[in-house]
Amino acid sequence: MHSRDNTTLRESTIGLADRAVGVARALRGPCTSEFRRRHDSPEQWSRWARRARIARTVAAALQLPADSVTVTDDPDRQYRTRNGNVPGDLITVTDPETAQRWRLLTDFTSPGESWFVLDRCPGCDAEVPVVRIACLADLGDYLDPDTDVVLADEARDSSLHDRLCTRREPCDAL
Ligand SMILES: [Zn+2]
Repeated sequence: MHSRDNTTLRESTIGLADRAVGVARALRGPCTSEFRRRHDSPEQWSRWARRARIARTVAAALQLPADSVTVTDDPDRQYRTRNGNVPGDLITVTDPETAQRWRLLTDFTSPGESWFVLDRCPGCDAEVPVVRIACLADLGDYLDPDTDVVLADEARDSSLHDRLCTRREPCDAL
């Protein structure tokens, strides 16, 4: 009985170590240099740790494993700070069952608690923040064709759409 318990414990410990090494090796790839640079300065470490927290929080909100979520520099959006413009956080959620991907942005009205889902505008194909989500049900409400979801005001931001797109303001329906 005791030896069986010990065996179980040892196997689960090895499992964690193997998974940790696997994740670290994947992050050391050429496209993820942020992982390599995370100890270069206090600012780098702070950003790395903050993004790890975002990934954990989003994964928990969507009831997914933590490694289903990655946070990277947003190539399309920058934010002004005291030290100049910095890239935003682009949150990518990969469904482990289907490999379908979703892209999210921080909702600065409640950071750490809700996020914007990015999706294509049916009018001009621009990628725009369409709805706020805080949990799995919010995402489901957006995806469910049988509900009348309330789109975020940000979805109609004129600057995000093609100039001739009818889905931008002042139209009141996306
Ligand atoms: Zn549009």
